[in-house]
Amino acid sequence: MLNLVLFGPPGAGKGTQSQKLIDKYNLIHLSTGDILRSEIAKGTELGLRAKTLMDQGILVPDEVVIGMIDSKLKENKAAAGFIFDGFPRTVPQAVALDALLAENNTAIACMIALEVNEEELTRRLLLRGQTSGRPDDQDEALVRKRVQEYNTKTAPVAGYYAEQGKFYGINGIGEIDEIFDNTCNIIDKYLSQPQVG
Ligand code: ADP
Repeated sequence: MLNLVLFGPPGAGKGTQSQKLIDKYNLIHLSTGDILRSEIAKGTELGLRAKTLMDQGILVPDEVVIGMIDSKLKENKAAAGFIFDGFPRTVPQAVALDALLAENNTAIACMIALEVNEEELTRRLLLRGQTSGRPDDQDEALVRKRVQEYNTKTAPVAGYYAEQGKFYGINGIGEIDEIFDNTCNIIDKYLSQPQVG
């Protein structure tokens, strides 16, 4: 299996790159943000609880997103691999993901981090807010709150994968296809190595 974590702050381009990667490597895209928004659209109790937090730019509780990922992994047992987008967003989520994958005798291959500075992120998110309809993209204070949540709670997840020798950072500013090529180079290098287990 090829399991990738696509990492980076809100607006770094994870969703865009994920779409291209799932086509090329035949992977399943698991975005906790998309799953949460679909729960909101369905009006489920989970969705209603998550919406209150998401509308404030705050992370939803770890156990909620871990439970969602657990059921998606169980629904897709025959998959060639997964792209995790927007998950794990805290170190406890990363620890839980390792445990869930180990139950299936698999693991994360690499974390690819898209690096983009805060000014560019804010610009992109507010621009996306004009068309995405996402309430959390439309207010500058809220956008900055999300980046702040990222800096305090999510950025340490990079260190977690770095300790495992799985972290790869790439420049997330530039042409989409160029960023995609750089991402594929990392993955192809990984795939060309002899796999253990
Ligand atoms: P972005 O990366 O642009 O912020 P997402 O769609 O990934 O957008 O996430 C939107 C919101 O959903 C986050 O601000 C957060 O409230 C919630 N969320 C998504 N994924 C997680 C997660 N893994 N843990 C906690 N909260 C999450």
